[in-house]
Amino acid sequence: MKKILLLFIISAFSLNFSFAQTNEYYFKFKENDKKIINTTLTKLISIDNVKDGLVYAYANDKEFKEFQKLGYDYELLPAPSSTTKVINMATTLGQMSNWDRYPTYEVYRQMLKNFETNYPSLCKLDSICSLASGRKIYSLKISDNVNTAENEPEFVYVSSMHGDETTGFIFMLRLADYLLSNYASVSRVQNIVNNVELYILPAINPDGTYYGGNNTVAGSRRYNANGEDINRDFPDMVIGANNPPYEPETQALMDFAAAHHFIFGGSFHGGAEVVNFPWDVYTSVHPHPDDNWFRQVCTDYVTSARLVNPNYMTSVNSSGITEGGDWYVVNGGIQDYYNYWHHCRMVTLEVSNIKLLGSENLVTYWNINQNSLLGFIEASLYGISGTVKNINSNPLDATVTIASHDADNSWVITDPSIGDYHRVIAPGTYDITYASVGYISQIHTVNVASYASTTIKDVVLLVAPQTNVTGTITDATSGTPIQGVTVTILSSSYPNVTTNASGQYVINSVYEGSYTIQVSKAGYITASQTVNVTTTNNVFNFSMTLSDPEGFETGVPACWVNSADNLAWSQVNTSPHGGTYCMKSGGFNVNNANSIFQITLNIASAGNINFWNKVSSESGFDFLKFYIDGVEKGSWSGTVAWAEQSYLVTVGNHTFKWAYTKNNSVYNGSDCAWIDDIVFPTSSQTITFIVKDQSNNPIQGANVNFNSTNQTTNASGVAVISSVSRGLDKPYTVSISGYNTNTGSVNVNYCDASINVSMAPVNISEISNKSLASIYPNPFNHLINIKSDNIITRVIIYNLVGSEILNKSINNYQFQLTLETIPSGVYFIQIHTNKGIVNKKIVKE
Ligand SMILES: [Zn+2]
Repeated sequence: MKKILLLFIISAFSLNFSFAQTNEYYFKFKENDKKIINTTLTKLISIDNVKDGLVYAYANDKEFKEFQKLGYDYELLPAPSSTTKVINMATTLGQMSNWDRYPTYEVYRQMLKNFETNYPSLCKLDSICSLASGRKIYSLKISDNVNTAENEPEFVYVSSMHGDETTGFIFMLRLADYLLSNYASVSRVQNIVNNVELYILPAINPDGTYYGGNNTVAGSRRYNANGEDINRDFPDMVIGANNPPYEPETQALMDFAAAHHFIFGGSFHGGAEVVNFPWDVYTSVHPHPDDNWFRQVCTDYVTSARLVNPNYMTSVNSSGITEGGDWYVVNGGIQDYYNYWHHCRMVTLEVSNIKLLGSENLVTYWNINQNSLLGFIEASLYGISGTVKNINSNPLDATVTIASHDADNSWVITDPSIGDYHRVIAPGTYDITYASVGYISQIHTVNVASYASTTIKDVVLLVAPQTNVTGTITDATSGTPIQGVTVTILSSSYPNVTTNASGQYVINSVYEGSYTIQVSKAGYITASQTVNVTTTNNVFNFSMTLSDPEGFETGVPACWVNSADNLAWSQVNTSPHGGTYCMKSGGFNVNNANSIFQITLNIASAGNINFWNKVSSESGFDFLKFYIDGVEKGSWSGTVAWAEQSYLVTVGNHTFKWAYTKNNSVYNGSDCAWIDDIVFPTSSQTITFIVKDQSNNPIQGANVNFNSTNQTTNASGVAVISSVSRGLDKPYTVSISGYNTNTGSVNVNYCDASINVSMAPVNISEISNKSLASIYPNPFNHLINIKSDNIITRVIIYNLVGSEILNKSINNYQFQLTLETIPSGVYFIQIHTNKGIVNKKIVKE
């Protein structure tokens, strides 16, 4: 809402009017704890630098208000762009000839147009975004045959997404000019222009760069016209870090990436001198799979620049390079976005300690960086490249993945219009899988000799055979077929099918290959199988379990782990999603609250976890987050109505965590989150029986019969029965001689459970009818007489520790027992008649 309103203000009134609406603060404060910087602070304000225990940061009005509540002793600093003494502007094209001025917006536009006009076969100008201000984000493509897509790597340089970091802006213009004007004469330039499709976007935040008006960069600022940091606005690899709508600049750069197949690129910044490589969201504890390649090409950039100025790029560390999160963590940056979502190697180039470099220094900085800028582009020509086509030489949309290497989306894809791929990588030998839907995958071993060598590997894939995939879906409990189940092959274009009255489904003409098949129907747990479909392996049956959602109607089962005290989640009966109750987070009006509710389950078959959630929080600051095994799967903030979420879960032990996490004191709405009606994938539980006597001593050797399994208790009286499926009233029987057999039943839900079984010795069990039988004499010497009005069928005698010492079959109304050999003492006698059982204590003298 706020963004729409601001756009309206900007378009309805003059640009100057918006100055007062979106202030930009620049400040510094002390914070030595990297953990606080990399979590709380980086999400709240736009950190610009972290140096010697000091954090330098920007904030808009809202962010600054939030920051002030943290209570830091901060110092407001003048806007960096206001401290630059010499800002000479070129108001004519001719004044740019010495490259010691900044162009006005109009001169900038004219320069780009002239590049295209003067070099029509090498240069093509496009606009990727028209902003409300009327300014545009321009893209220059420089390549031979510039209007034709060729088998060449696509490389991209973008600059000044922080509008006041302008050194790269001039680099970009001068680089384009250098390449175009030297193409005819310099072989190194020819090599780049002939073999690379180079894209240059000199100013991707023109509203920030020309915030002081189109005739000067003097009033430039970091944020865009809406007061937002574009380089914190992208969806990064931590899914859900940012949500649409995106700023217009961000959206344009996302669309631009989707329309191309960039394999390498750089984003120019200022305020420090360092080359920063992925990840920004993680420290080097979680390295990019091509970490060694990044370190090499970034070091090459620094080494080449230091040939001109040995002291260059030392402001962050002596190497001149840093893994992003090792400097400070950034969420929502373009670097990680291009890397993770578009398989591009993107780095951040911080090229001058002064953000708005004095125009008198522009030539010096270009001279330091010129070779490095070219070398970076040249690096896109090395590694492994080639084409993936079919037998008719048609290019294929294929993935190129390196086994035991690629992770976090580091695999590359072909450009389907050409079929070409380009994989920059460190020297080594790699097994590469080439895969395309409808074709048989191939694995090739490819060697890369050095960082400056290129291995060409062209691949022709053969069409995969097709087969019909079928199966039957039945109810796991009753075994009856289930009609109306939706069967989906995930991540494919095969249409969903539904089971018929016999529970059968058919998916026609599926190419051989590996797929995940998912089955879902309301009321059942969604299940899935990852299968390898071939013409002879094409029948996949499923059994589905009723979903039995956890709606917390009878409280919270003991297997949940809840935060303590005022951070605990609690059962409430206000507006649940279903039933009478739901769970509500703690943390109301608690600073930096982290209210956690979690459970660990042993998932027996792959499927989905589904749950409903609702949030009422301070938008953008206080979140409900859902994690599986510590990996954030979703986050919600602001006013979010009940909505169902669904995530795939694999077989094995998994921890499901819901956390309501807040920043500092401000809260909005009800300041909490709710969850309800959780359906877990089919899990198997471990049920532990603890068998004791009535004095609470463990009983060893008892037989526990449960879930079609027999287990004997150990010395601690424990029998553990695992892989128990859910079910109501599952019966158990515990038996050992000397004790009455104990029977009962357990309701097995998704929780592991312990069952305490107390065994009563046979002697103390209730005598149902004392007149059933009589014994005399008692105490006795050697002989006892037993008599009954009913037929006595059996007599058993136990000693005091429960051991059977006599077990005799009888078939009479009375009889005499001789007990000469047993020692004197107390015994128990159990008399079975055709009308019941009598237990009695007897004493031998
Ligand atoms: Zn920056």
